[in-house]
Amino acid sequence: MKYVIVGGNTGGAGAAARLRRLDENAQIIMFEKGEFVSYSNCSLPYRLSETVADTDDLVLNTPQSLHDVYNIQTRVLSEVVAIDRAAKRVRVKNLQDGSEYDENYDKLVLAPGANAVVPPIKGIDGAKIFTVKTVDDVKRLYAFIRGGRVKNISVIGGGFIGVEVAVNLKGAGYNVSLVEATPQILRTYDYDMVQILQKEMLDNGVNLIVGDSVSSFDKNDLILSSGRRVPGDAVVMAIGVRADTALAAAAGLELNARGAIKVDANYCTSDPDIYAVGDAVEVFNAVTRKPFMLQLAGPAQKQARQAADHICGLPVRNTGFVGSSCIKVFSYNAASTGLTAAQCEQEGINYGTAYVLPRDRVGIMPGSCPMHYKVIFEKPTGRVLGAQAISKGDAPKRIDVAATLIKFGGTADDLRDLELCYAPPFNSPKDAGNYAGLVAGNLLQGVYKQVRVDEVRGLVESGGYFIDVRPQAMYKKGHIKGAVNIPVSQLRERIGEIPKDRPVYIHCRIGQTSYNAVMALQGRGFTNVYNVSGGFIGICYFEYFNDVSLKREPIVTNYLF
Ligand SMILES: Cc1cc2nc3c(=O)[nH]c(=O)nc-3n(C[C@H](O)[C@H](O)[C@H](O)COP(=O)(O)OP(=O)(O)OC[C@H]3O[C@@H](n4cnc5c(N)ncnc54)[C@H](O)[C@@H]3O)c2cc1C
Repeated sequence: MKYVIVGGNTGGAGAAARLRRLDENAQIIMFEKGEFVSYSNCSLPYRLSETVADTDDLVLNTPQSLHDVYNIQTRVLSEVVAIDRAAKRVRVKNLQDGSEYDENYDKLVLAPGANAVVPPIKGIDGAKIFTVKTVDDVKRLYAFIRGGRVKNISVIGGGFIGVEVAVNLKGAGYNVSLVEATPQILRTYDYDMVQILQKEMLDNGVNLIVGDSVSSFDKNDLILSSGRRVPGDAVVMAIGVRADTALAAAAGLELNARGAIKVDANYCTSDPDIYAVGDAVEVFNAVTRKPFMLQLAGPAQKQARQAADHICGLPVRNTGFVGSSCIKVFSYNAASTGLTAAQCEQEGINYGTAYVLPRDRVGIMPGSCPMHYKVIFEKPTGRVLGAQAISKGDAPKRIDVAATLIKFGGTADDLRDLELCYAPPFNSPKDAGNYAGLVAGNLLQGVYKQVRVDEVRGLVESGGYFIDVRPQAMYKKGHIKGAVNIPVSQLRERIGEIPKDRPVYIHCRIGQTSYNAVMALQGRGFTNVYNVSGGFIGICYFEYFNDVSLKREPIVTNYLF
């Protein structure tokens, strides 16, 4: 058998290696149009801050090592420019000398990835525009910024690549602006959760502008739709990637509406001799049960292995993907899996959310810090649909657990009951996920009612009645404007002060003591009491970025974090 592979990175190299393991006698040829194969594009932004000490460190394998270990013929600077499906051969262009030749195949695997989108914005030709998609891209950007005259760099696009680039450029000492057209960065997090990360960007000196887009360039300055000018010496374009499927389209393979290659459960395209994997394909979403696009490295590797298995006649069970990712934003670690609440809205799913804010480990342990954790669950089944965690502690670990639970169809009760490792330096006897499962279960059963942090401003502005059950000393340090302070220790003796004829919103520091207060009041006949999930700390995190960047009147007398 002769296997030809287009694309020599995550999906392509993964498929080639698995094919070799399953078929020692096959001829395997892998074409890569760039200079490098098997590189860590996920680590590219970290070269900018020199966290990755040398550009060469980004390259994990060479054509020689792939030959020596796997007996794979790797041809770099070789672009596959056409597929002749009837003749089962590809046309290859040697990018060094411009010559072209044909190579036939028995099975073809397409792993061309995706291209960085660079839109034709007015004035773009006069700007120094960079992308961060390949090793060459990063070499160019690194050389330019280290050239000596660059101080101010603008990054356009607040997806994970844009944010990682901004964080690493800031870490390298540049003045960084990040412009995002939609109202928030990182849409794998809900608007409420992402405020924590937007605050972190602000706190670390990134000029973060959301809800404004670039309408034109004046040399390297950005002119935004609002009229605002963002001065810069260089621009990194990170508004997203588009499946690189021109080759597949020209060959008549079936694509979806967004131009990604359609594949079946075995990663076979509409041609039975052509497989496709990675950023270029549409995959199955195990939560929505619908096709979607998931441009991440882990899924690309898994697809590559499954495609190779099917080519070699091994049975494949495609369990789909839920979409799990994580990111480092200065001192915060953030992770997300499954659907966001915003996606549930779009999908018309009846859902609920629970947001808890326990510590990541026992409070008296060194390094103990808050763990913001949000779970999204289906109503009325309680099936967990998604989870997000943000912390200076190990948020990805918490979300890995949630991702596993979602993949196996777990519910909020399962999350509550998960038996996870505990010793004081690592966790609490109840993990953040356990807490979130408890809250979700209570909400599903109607044990009590809650308001979310994103509902608080509206309630405060419309004169809602808030009770702050923290101790008086804490209240004095900072509180919601207009909130009445009844410390939980005085709640029962001062119960006569609490109105019964209007909704009462009760909060404490993080939402746990106030839950006890709500339950106590309910036990004494109050029916219109609500717990504020996340408490005063959650409110402060939610409000801060918009208060500062919009110069908005705060609803709190002072922020406490
Ligand atoms: C800056 C950055 C950071 C990232 N961080 C993360 C992360 O933290 N976590 C995560 O899960 N994912 C991350 N990703 C995404 C992840 O790298 C991709 O999802 C994954 O690499 C996709 O694999 P692929 O094989 O489909 O495409 P790629 O890895 O992009 O490989 C495609 C290769 O095909 C080559 N090619 C294309 N067309 C042809 C042709 N016609 N002929 C020959 N060669 C061709 C390209 O040159 C390229 O080398 C990141 C990506 C980037 C760019």
